[in-house]
Amino acid sequence: SDHNLEYPHSPDQMDWSTHFPAFFPPRNESETTAEHSSTQLQKQVEIADIGCGFGGLIVSLGPKLPDTLMLGMEIRQQVTEYVEERIIALRRQYEEGESENGHNYQNISVIRGNAMKFLPNMFHKGQLRKMFFCFPDPHFKARKHKARIISPGLASEYAYIVKPGGIIYTITDVEDLHNWMARHLEDHPLFDRMTPEELEGDVCVETMMGDTEEGKKVTRNNGNKFVACFRRREDPEWS
Ligand code: SAM
Repeated sequence: SDHNLEYPHSPDQMDWSTHFPAFFPPRNESETTAEHSSTQLQKQVEIADIGCGFGGLIVSLGPKLPDTLMLGMEIRQQVTEYVEERIIALRRQYEEGESENGHNYQNISVIRGNAMKFLPNMFHKGQLRKMFFCFPDPHFKARKHKARIISPGLASEYAYIVKPGGIIYTITDVEDLHNWMARHLEDHPLFDRMTPEELEGDVCVETMMGDTEEGKKVTRNNGNKFVACFRRREDPEWS
């Protein structure tokens, strides 16, 4: 449950230096959060993994896109703490010269939060280049569908924080949920479904197919994986 979670009033209040200390100077006590956030404008979180679970996607994608800051968001406290520890351990391995791939993992982090609430309080309009929804909880029963993480209202929030040209990636092993997510994003005026040709060679698709914990479980069980990706359209011009 999320009723004890605190949210920033605006993206300017996010202190990213605690998440990405190698990229942001820490806030000194004489600065307000707004002043401090202006020092952060050069670098921004550009990838969000919604419902990141145990963090497999960002841990795998971090070294592949080393200059991009990426954030997992997870609602369960213990799972979030697990991912925090995992990232701390990876960073430490690098510092101790024991990193397996020479990557320092400074560009990945995790935050506890309910993605169905207040995302626009955390990210500026058009801030994100990519958003992932990997194996979201299916909520099978019709009366539970409102708990699904993609809906017409939420699609509008996602359109707000994803920049034109940015991409929403979805994957699930539940065909009904796949159809649901695809329908709601296809029906949205600010998203276009991408063709398999457009996605060919996209390292993010490969990673989301193979490297999330849930995806690995589906592979072990010989399950299907349904992928649908959507490009954020340009904002309409008002005449
Ligand atoms: N994406 C991961 C993967 O592929 O391995 C985890 C998939 S798991 C089935 C779904 C995750 O979404 C769970 O860890 C759950 O706690 C999280 N979750 C569910 N609703 C959420 C919400 N509203 N905001 C953030 N995380 C959420």
